[in-house]
Amino acid sequence: MSELPRLILQDIPDYHKIDVYMANGGYDTYKKAIAMKPDDVTNEVKKSGLRGRGGAAFPTGLKWTFMPKGSDKPKYLAVNGDESEPGSFKDRQIFERNPHQLIEGIMIAGYAMDINAAYIYIRGEYHKWVDLMQKALDDAYSKGLVGEKMKETFGNNYSIDIYVHKGAGAYICGEETSLMTSIEGDRGYPRYKPPFPAQRGLWDMPTTVNNVETISTVVPILKMGGDNFAKIGAPGHPGTLLFGVSGHVNKPGVYELPTGTLLTDIIYNYCGGVRNNKKIKAVIPGGSSMPPLRGDEIEGVRMDEDSLKALGTHIGTGGIIVMDEDTDLVKTTLRIAHFYHHESCGQCTPCREGCGWMEKILHRIEIGEATSKDLDLLISVANNIEGNTICALGDAAAWPVRGFVTKFRDEFEKAHGKRSSADTLLQAS
Ligand code: SF4
Repeated sequence: MSELPRLILQDIPDYHKIDVYMANGGYDTYKKAIAMKPDDVTNEVKKSGLRGRGGAAFPTGLKWTFMPKGSDKPKYLAVNGDESEPGSFKDRQIFERNPHQLIEGIMIAGYAMDINAAYIYIRGEYHKWVDLMQKALDDAYSKGLVGEKMKETFGNNYSIDIYVHKGAGAYICGEETSLMTSIEGDRGYPRYKPPFPAQRGLWDMPTTVNNVETISTVVPILKMGGDNFAKIGAPGHPGTLLFGVSGHVNKPGVYELPTGTLLTDIIYNYCGGVRNNKKIKAVIPGGSSMPPLRGDEIEGVRMDEDSLKALGTHIGTGGIIVMDEDTDLVKTTLRIAHFYHHESCGQCTPCREGCGWMEKILHRIEIGEATSKDLDLLISVANNIEGNTICALGDAAAWPVRGFVTKFRDEFEKAHGKRSSADTLLQAS
């Protein structure tokens, strides 16, 4: 692992402490940034090819250019650390092991976009990580690195205030517009887009929402230069990713690896292979909302957005869930469907009703009371949710259900076979 680029998870003992971070060049990259013009900082991020690490893989530098210039309105940065998706647990590694790089990344992003205040929104259940992040922020304030005093410390006219905001404990609060509603003090509730956050975000002011890992990656980009960063990993999706690997592997955990690393390399070399040497039945490559890959499809698959998109799935949050040959995929799909039904905010009909229907049908299959038409009905419900909702939770619910039923139809058919008598009854009635 030592020859691999380590841009975020450093092997330096006590790196989370401010003195250790500063002794290793911490906060020097901010000095480099403020010696540049703000637009040049954004251009460096554009040149790097950095894409968002929160799920959508949108180009970060381009997103920053959406913020209005020359406006006297306050501008905000919301840093999304809600990571409530099953299979996603990488941002908490940053809160725990490298919180000052996140703070420095916020300062650099803030300078580039002329942000007045930033909110680090941390998943509501992450009590320990909220405390760790708050401690790091308090230390940065007491050294005059953040807030009004940073003008004096760095000899520059720019300052930013940063706040840790504990999330509301709902998956939907990780959706960017819902996250903003939650920061404003209301129930997390997605808003229509447009207007996009850069036009009307927090308190109707221009706002950029970026993921924790995305913002942390800005520091090494400025340090090494966008062109050098662009040479790491997959050309269309460069850099490193924090892959959170869970499920039936011998060594689950978070691994920082270049994008484009082979999925089989991650599973068999870094994670020590599959528990009890079982075969792989399925892999979800990017958190529970992504369509799965079959075990016989994973050979040669590279872990970057473009490669996965070509296979009909996505990199998502880089949360890899490995399922061995003994996994009951009907139960797995039902569990995933239950999660999204439970987390739906209920605002739009396709998601509210469709998620409920998918769960009900899967439950019927699971207990052996489905009819022969139920698999196609399930796919039809998923198709009617996709693209017809206010926020991406609808797609997140539909994709894994449709993916599992389509790719593992035999297994669902077998479950269907268990209840042929019920089927006959229904058909006869
Ligand atoms: Fe709410 Fe679901 Fe509609 Fe999103 S898609 S706004 S979670 S009902």
